[in-house]
Amino acid sequence: QKITIAIDGYSSTGKSTLAKRLATALDYVYVDTGAMYRAVTLYALTNKFIGNSEDIASLIAELPNIDLKFVPNNTLGKSEMFLNGENVEKEIRTMMVSEHVSKIAAIKEVRWLLVNMQQQMGKEKGIVMDGRDIGTVVFPDAELKIFMTASPNTRATRRYKELLDRGEEVSFEEVLENVQKRDFIDSTREESPLRKAEDAIEFDNSDMGLDEQFGRIHDYTLR
Ligand code: C5P
Repeated sequence: QKITIAIDGYSSTGKSTLAKRLATALDYVYVDTGAMYRAVTLYALTNKFIGNSEDIASLIAELPNIDLKFVPNNTLGKSEMFLNGENVEKEIRTMMVSEHVSKIAAIKEVRWLLVNMQQQMGKEKGIVMDGRDIGTVVFPDAELKIFMTASPNTRATRRYKELLDRGEEVSFEEVLENVQKRDFIDSTREESPLRKAEDAIEFDNSDMGLDEQFGRIHDYTLR
């Protein structure tokens, strides 16, 4: 019997690593909703709706012209984000996008659009979706909800390593500041702020290796 699994939590708590592994093990579909908010942010930056000047009204008017797709890459064994037909998987992970994404994710119209798309993708059970509002807003009836936490230092260290691996020149302090700033904006915004769903299992993985995390969460799916 397939179920819906919602994984929410703060930035860089390792949600996606875990969600991907879970999806592979269960033969479920994995959806990274952060990639969708990041793609809209990239679109807004490229079209200069944000950056030096700001024109949120025009961005909202343009939303129907934004086409988002996850395209499976069999070589990499994962899906990649395509924005209006172009592979933007690398661009959406840059510091530039991270710096602006929480502002874009606080826009009601953006959330309505993306939440709707996510609900369509999850119409059939057998899905693992990670984000900030999956257990509270997108799938309030999900059978399994996990809320991941970890200390800010653990999280910034993870993100810092990822960015260095991708060849970005950033300092640890910059990354730590970005992680904390995003958490603040994400949890204080008006529209579906980041919070733990009442029936979510809180999971602190600060001092836990990947295998242990996976083992524990996988056990929950068997209950
Ligand atoms: O998961 P990731 O760190 O890539 O998400 C980037 C940003 O997208 C978050 O900091 C948050 O502002 C936004 N987001 C959101 N709701 C989601 C997923 C991501 O607001 N479901």
